[in-house]
Amino acid sequence: MQKLINRPEQVVNEMLDGLLVLYPNVARLSHHNVLLRDDAEEARDRQIALISGGGSGHEPAHGGYVGQGMLSAAVAGEVFTSPSVDSIVSAIRAVTGKLGVLLIVKNYTGDRLNFGLAAEIARSEGTLVETVLVADDVALAAKVDYAGRRGIAGTVLVHKIAGAAAAEGKDLPQVASIAQAVADNLGTMGVSLSAGTAPGVGKPSFTLDGEVELGLGIHGEPGVRRIPLRPADEIVDELLRPIERTLRLRTGERIVVLLNNLGATTNMELAIIARKVLLGLRAEDYLVERVYAGTFVSSLDMAGVSISLLRVNDERLRWLDAPTAAPAWPRVAKREPGEVVERIISSQGEDSTREERSTETPIGRQTLRAVLAACDALLAAEEQLTELDRLAGDGDLGSNMARAARGIKEAAGTYAFDRPAEAFRDLGLSLQQLLGGSSGPLYGVFFLRAGAGLDSGAIGDLKVWAQALLEACGAIGELGGAALGDRTMLDALLPFAQTFDEQIRGGVPVKKALLAAFEVAKQGAQSTANMTARRGRSSYLGARVMGTPDPGAVAVIVWLRAVVGALEE
Ligand code: ADP
Ligand code: MG
Repeated sequence: MQKLINRPEQVVNEMLDGLLVLYPNVARLSHHNVLLRDDAEEARDRQIALISGGGSGHEPAHGGYVGQGMLSAAVAGEVFTSPSVDSIVSAIRAVTGKLGVLLIVKNYTGDRLNFGLAAEIARSEGTLVETVLVADDVALAAKVDYAGRRGIAGTVLVHKIAGAAAAEGKDLPQVASIAQAVADNLGTMGVSLSAGTAPGVGKPSFTLDGEVELGLGIHGEPGVRRIPLRPADEIVDELLRPIERTLRLRTGERIVVLLNNLGATTNMELAIIARKVLLGLRAEDYLVERVYAGTFVSSLDMAGVSISLLRVNDERLRWLDAPTAAPAWPRVAKREPGEVVERIISSQGEDSTREERSTETPIGRQTLRAVLAACDALLAAEEQLTELDRLAGDGDLGSNMARAARGIKEAAGTYAFDRPAEAFRDLGLSLQQLLGGSSGPLYGVFFLRAGAGLDSGAIGDLKVWAQALLEACGAIGELGGAALGDRTMLDALLPFAQTFDEQIRGGVPVKKALLAAFEVAKQGAQSTANMTARRGRSSYLGARVMGTPDPGAVAVIVWLRAVVGALEE
């Protein structure tokens, strides 16, 4: 994994300077890797101070949680390395007044030692110091060694609640006991799909061949076990169960959820997981009061997530909802997440159910047969089209076409093929919805215009069909601005329409006309291999696509071949 850094030994230093640019409410302690509230000096006479920290590589932890309503200071070590006693003591001195300081420490030997000694030094200077250890990782419940459970993402909830309680003016013993109670009612479990890579190391800390690691630590320490990758919903169950067990959650209990991206999980996956977490917890009849999702405590670029559950009451919820200036705390509505089904609304006048109807006329049956054949051919060609579009575009054409083909096949009984004009218009509407990409609107307008063309004459007259086809190609040109030779689907479709029209008007029998037109279309599609794209995505690739035909033009050949074959029978 490559990294955008300058020198590995400067990453933490340069990152902290960068955070000063990004977080206008924080300052940096001179000579130390410490970020603090820029109003820390005034604040320390009004409220107790809160300090947390740990190794770097867990961004936005902990610098992102510095601000009014959360931490007074965050102490950063080198990547995955506990901060020095020296820096912790300096942070304590900088932000602590006579009201004292609470240290929130994740349970790792290094952090315990460094924060522990720093606390000792501060006490010897007359400072009031309390420490809360967070050990929320439930993965190790079954095999606790002498070091005990680790502190991971749930720690952020301790920061938030303790921060809000401190801002309200609670004293040091009170905030310490509030924070301790939060830590005691908190459980976290994670899963990793791939490890992160430390800057300057170049290789991930471990590899997983098709497996996922359950219960790993945020430094890439091993988890409890490896299992084969399974669907997201099943993985979520694997994560939730041990937390519920460890916290001994009972039906009806109020909880909040923190869904943490360990670094390289897409927001798409995070949302899919959030959906299942809510479903899973509601199925157990817990009262889910809030769901926080995002990157809270990462592990460099590890792919994976952790789920934290915290038991809440009115007070804790109020502190979670309290405003904070900490830049990394998410803005979440102060109400429980709604039921997914209740939140789905339909747009006006949209009728998604269509009636089944039978197709009885010869033209209708032939059209239906041709459409089904086209769908099957596109399904069979999915891989080929994907590969071509990967070379010349973004690789979605195969799956888009296959999705549309499946959709059309499923709804095939709802199109009025006995009235082809109407059926084509409906096909156009279906395609713009099903197909997506650039092809969606282009095929949409193609069929809408073809439908309009068929309406303008006798349906049994082949000249009407030929003319409708030409007009439909014209509509693609109008909407997309492409002309013959621009390396698009038109380079296959338009020659087909033109030749078919000429042949039919010249009195050639329909089967022969179709075959002749198809030959020209094939040549047209092949010729796109030597064209420079002026439309669509491949236009950005210029000469790089030379030699490969345009995927859209090839798709046209795929379904045209099937249509011609079906009509020949
Ligand atoms: P996207 O590039 O949006 O992913 P698709 O993958 O759905 O689009 O379709 C790509 C194909 O669409 C191209 O191979 C080309 O044949 C066709 N295409 C793109 N732009 C145009 C256009 N302006 N006119 C006609 N066809 C186009
Ligand atoms: Mg594409």
